[in-house]
Amino acid sequence: MGVDIGSAASKCVILKNGRDTVGSAAVPLGTGTSGPGRAVETALERAGLGRADMAVTVATGYGRNSLPGADFTVSELSCHAAGAHAFLPEAGTVVDIGGQDCKAIRLAPDGGLEGFVMNDKCAAGTGRFLEVMARVLELDVSQLADRSRDAERAVEISSTCTVFAESEVISRLSENTDIGELIAGIHKSAAARAAGLVRRVGLVEPLVMTGGVALNRGVVAALEKELGCRAAVPEAPQLNGAMGAALFAWKSFKKDREEG
Ligand code: ADP
Repeated sequence: MGVDIGSAASKCVILKNGRDTVGSAAVPLGTGTSGPGRAVETALERAGLGRADMAVTVATGYGRNSLPGADFTVSELSCHAAGAHAFLPEAGTVVDIGGQDCKAIRLAPDGGLEGFVMNDKCAAGTGRFLEVMARVLELDVSQLADRSRDAERAVEISSTCTVFAESEVISRLSENTDIGELIAGIHKSAAARAAGLVRRVGLVEPLVMTGGVALNRGVVAALEKELGCRAAVPEAPQLNGAMGAALFAWKSFKKDREEG
């Protein structure tokens, strides 16, 4: 079992044979809440298994040290690298945008970490930035992509800072700016921040995008435009860190078994 306790959401993946996902869950509540316990219980329920059936449990994410019953913890960076490598073994660079941070990771050929750049000091370009903007627009983050799908242009958001950008969006709204074009501008602003990190770490294609924000096709498309390349997104991008943790659990189980 791999459990990724993030700042915004808790995710759990149960792997059988190191390959088949038999249960998973993502709960939009992060560390310090009932989210981690709920993600674990839901994934177990979906798998038709109990906690005692888990051979090894690995925790990752911002709140990784708070999971009762975890056998060990692994850093988010290593878990995102391992998850992305399992999804696309040729992947060279991973960009992960979560609730309150954004990371760009360079992968070694075996899926290990070759380098990384991270923004965890400011909300700009993170899930929180998108949540703040969605609230001003009276939308849920999950609606942003659809509402901007037909936008013909992106409104320029000149402030990087989330607080100033929020004021900018509010004043654009009062000028009756087209909502779709405004959202396209918000996506572009988030993507520009992430693209900056990717350039700093070094873009080696294929590029994989993970994290909850990768569920927003508008941000994925804006990032592809910024970088001039395609971004491969796993079917469940938000589960990528938990998947990596489950893979570390499997590796440790296999090693123990081989050593008898
Ligand atoms: P963390 O690991 O930091 O908790 P996640 O990778 O779980 O973060 O991503 C959480 C973020 O994903 C939220 O802040 C939100 O902006 C975004 N998100 C979650 N669900 C959706 C969705 N259905 N559509 C678009 N964005 C989403």
